[in-house]
Amino acid sequence: MVRKNAINKYKLPVPKDQLQRIDRTSSPAHLGKLRNAIDLIVDKDTPVLAAADGIVTFVKDISDIGGPNPAYWEYTNFIVIMHSNGEYSRYDHLSYNSSTVKVGQNVRAGEEIAKVGMTGYTYLPHLHFQVFVVTGFNMWTDFETLKVQGFNISLR
Ligand SMILES: [Zn+2]
Repeated sequence: MVRKNAINKYKLPVPKDQLQRIDRTSSPAHLGKLRNAIDLIVDKDTPVLAAADGIVTFVKDISDIGGPNPAYWEYTNFIVIMHSNGEYSRYDHLSYNSSTVKVGQNVRAGEEIAKVGMTGYTYLPHLHFQVFVVTGFNMWTDFETLKVQGFNISLR
């Protein structure tokens, strides 16, 4: 059976003092296996931070296309980091050419990996963040997002 909650501890993937709010549920894109994804509302060009120690397994930052239309879905720039316990974290809507890490690179929790942008399907500048496990042979379609524990920070 696939676990529902993340085992690892994850840190906020943006600087806390730049976070405007956390949006867990209102995005129309967070359905089905994306149900545990989190949108962190921040300004464009806010640093994106690795949420835990790990190894970078995917980087895409060549897109400069995005906006409030599902047609832009595939144009998101994103990074995937592999962590312990078979867990991965994914960071979406990154700014064009903003990644500072490469595939195979070790990163530490809190290390800057890119900047927030408006690529892909997005209504406003934010970081889409999800922790997931792979459940089949294709990691892009066979996965489940996990609930991140201890991630609730109080904002006003
Ligand atoms: Zn999202």
